[in-house]
Amino acid sequence: MSLYAVFGHPIDHSLSPRIHEAFGALTGRLVHYERREAHPGGLAQALAAFAAEGGRGANITVPVKGEAFTLAARVTARAARARAVNTLSWDNGAWVGDNTDGIGLVRDLTVNHGWSLPDRRVLLIGAGGAAQGIVGPLLDAGIAILAISNRTPARAQGLVWACADARVRLAAAGGAAGSRYDLVINATAAGLSGGLPAPLDAVFEDAIVYDLMYGPKARAFLSHARAHGAREVADGLGMLVEQAAESFLLWHGVRPPTPSVLERLRTEVDAR
Ligand code: NDP
Repeated sequence: MSLYAVFGHPIDHSLSPRIHEAFGALTGRLVHYERREAHPGGLAQALAAFAAEGGRGANITVPVKGEAFTLAARVTARAARARAVNTLSWDNGAWVGDNTDGIGLVRDLTVNHGWSLPDRRVLLIGAGGAAQGIVGPLLDAGIAILAISNRTPARAQGLVWACADARVRLAAAGGAAGSRYDLVINATAAGLSGGLPAPLDAVFEDAIVYDLMYGPKARAFLSHARAHGAREVADGLGMLVEQAAESFLLWHGVRPPTPSVLERLRTEVDAR
């Protein structure tokens, strides 16, 4: 049996082991998947020990996705575009880095929620590692405009430049009051402390609003959006499950069905 794990900090509450073991059961594979602590600067050592124990695949989460990108011997085109790695696969004695966050988000939006992306005007709030991973796949999905807003505008400006795409522009910190978007995505870590991203003056009226956070951590933002006229809202639980399914596909060569896993986790997360 091969060994898999998710690395990051804090990691105690990661749902990834549950998701991957459920995928294993659904596809007839015995999957052993653990949580492992990795603090900034400590990922190389943690991964070396893991590979020596038989580790064959790793998911990487906050705060070491950038570190995983620099440690990988090779990276895929989508990881290179994101400059962040959330999936490592052991191949011929070396780690190969990939990024499944963006495809996971696009699948959740389009397949699970049935929302259409072509020609949509999108506001992305946040410019950290998660935002880096999702901009490329959103553009590939055919959106018309991607405006990026961040508390620290220089970071958003860097992401705009890195996209090198005429559809991508900088929005004022807060989300550009007065400008209307079809889809507003919160990719900030503000929900970790239960609050709203600050500043925040985005227009939510008639928009679809998505938070990468899920469960209670997404409630403040999604309640705010609903109270300000959002048409529909969704949290990031589906993205979490879909990005995991893409990692599972890379490691095991089969894409597991996701609806039953998502449904089970949804019941638990909403009861918190
Ligand atoms: P980073 O630490 O790389 O970036 C954090 C971002 O949040 C930055 O843009 C930062 O702005 C902003 N921010 C943090 N606190 C606040 C605040 N109080 N007000 C306004 N902006 C704030 O984190 P990641 O990008 O990697 O992750 C962001 C979140 O996305 C995580 O909390 C994670 O849980 C979630 N996520 C969910 C996934 C899923 O599958 N559902 C997948 C990946 C991530 P600044 O630059 O000014 O510091």
